[in-house]
Amino acid sequence: MSDAPPILLWLRRDFRLHDHPALAAARATGRPVIPVFISDAVVAGSGAAPRLRLGLALAVFGATLAAIGSRLILRRGAALEVLRALVAETGATSVWWSRDLDPAAIARDTAVKAALKAAGIEARSFPGQLLFAPWEVATKTGGPYRVYTPFWKALRGADPGAEVEVVSELRPATTWPDSENLEDLALGAAMNRGAAVLARHAAPGESAAQARLADFLDRKLLAYGTARDLLAEDATSGLSEPLAWGEISPRRIWHAAQARRAEGLPGAEDFLRELLWREFAWHLMYHFPTLGQANWRPEWDAFPWRGESADAERWRRGQTGEPVVDAAMRELYVTGRMHNRARMIVASYLTKHLLTDWRLGLAWFADCLIDHDPAANAMGWQWVAGSGPDAAPYFRIFNPASQAAKFDPEGRYRRRWLGAGRGDLSPGARDFFAAVPRRWQLDPAAPPPAPLVDLAAGRARALAAYAGLRAAPETP
Ligand code: FAD
Repeated sequence: MSDAPPILLWLRRDFRLHDHPALAAARATGRPVIPVFISDAVVAGSGAAPRLRLGLALAVFGATLAAIGSRLILRRGAALEVLRALVAETGATSVWWSRDLDPAAIARDTAVKAALKAAGIEARSFPGQLLFAPWEVATKTGGPYRVYTPFWKALRGADPGAEVEVVSELRPATTWPDSENLEDLALGAAMNRGAAVLARHAAPGESAAQARLADFLDRKLLAYGTARDLLAEDATSGLSEPLAWGEISPRRIWHAAQARRAEGLPGAEDFLRELLWREFAWHLMYHFPTLGQANWRPEWDAFPWRGESADAERWRRGQTGEPVVDAAMRELYVTGRMHNRARMIVASYLTKHLLTDWRLGLAWFADCLIDHDPAANAMGWQWVAGSGPDAAPYFRIFNPASQAAKFDPEGRYRRRWLGAGRGDLSPGARDFFAAVPRRWQLDPAAPPPAPLVDLAAGRARALAAYAGLRAAPETP
């Protein structure tokens, strides 16, 4: 075994030691394992906040690997070229990775696998991103689910299998290949002065994810069903962030919540139902890879969406004059996250009151979210816009004012992010002004902007534009 050739373990969105099938399988061979991350075109194509968050994930996971006697090798370039170079440098005969079902990643990985195999290298991909493989879940008549409730009913009691064992040691390479410095990858650069603010709100690493899960199960799960929609409450799990980076396995969350459900804990069923929306989004994305680019319902191609405009820019900057919308857009910019209810409110406002193409909103979220998940984001935007497979009916136009009255009854959420007059800024508002680009020229002392649209007139305009279009109701 001493001269066994190493395995290159190509890490992408799977920064954990627990329930990591590719890593566990590599360790079980007893061969040296060389973990590698490649900053390639797929990484470069992701948004500013996700890249910053990726850098944080790499820093923590590099330290985690070091603590078990291994290393994380960082490289830049086209994935195939980098892997070929590493194969030549290390004598590795295998390249293994966890599947990433993002269409851009699938395209890259398919090409990489074919080229490596043609060169006589063993290229193997493993599960781990999802609970159930999209190709293993089908309706009774065959084909993918397009509506959530039957999907949920089919899978709510399904068993995704037991976790694989936690990796606590990894045989090191005899000679380690060179690694770039994490700082040289400049993953936080595009956030400019927002980077330091955003980093304070991130919780990278699997220990932080475990702590979030434990805290959620102990303190929040009981009231989850009733409190999850309240904007000012810290009533949800916050697990979308580590899930996006593979710092926690969906299977670990699933089994923990199922155990609570078996104990009869109210909230567990509601939580599992939400968790499975993530799965549904990925299954949709796998079967309909243009979910993030094209209207799922082709009749929407004829809809006269507005494109880029000054209104859309005011939405991005939290300057619509609609308090709950502006508060939520500030939350997004500062924390890299946004409450689910607020995501629906701001998406509805952009696509309905401002009649703006959902793809503009999707792109801004993709740039700003540290929990950016291409499938959940695409499904969420198409659901709200009405163009998606399992969409909100065209006449569901969230009224931001009544949503705020219902889900932020005391105004705490709005006060957290808004504030008038220089001396009267909330800490959240202060963070916002510290983080936004100077070229936005926002004045913290300026009075709140006048509303961009009258809500009743905006609703009437949207209804007129939507006349004739139909969609099926269901709420995520
Ligand atoms: P919890 O309420 O604790 O839910 C637990 C888990 O269930 C979440 O971590 C998430 O994995 C999953 N989940 C919950 N709601 C949804 C949902 N509606 N769709 C898919 N999965 C869900 N989620 C992302 O993770 N990344 C995104 O980029 C993203 N973009 C969105 C865009 C829009 C327009 C909308 C309406 C929703 C989007 N969501 C996205 C879904 C949802 O808002 C977040 O998953 C949720 O707010 C995360 O907070 P949490 O982890 O505390 O959720």
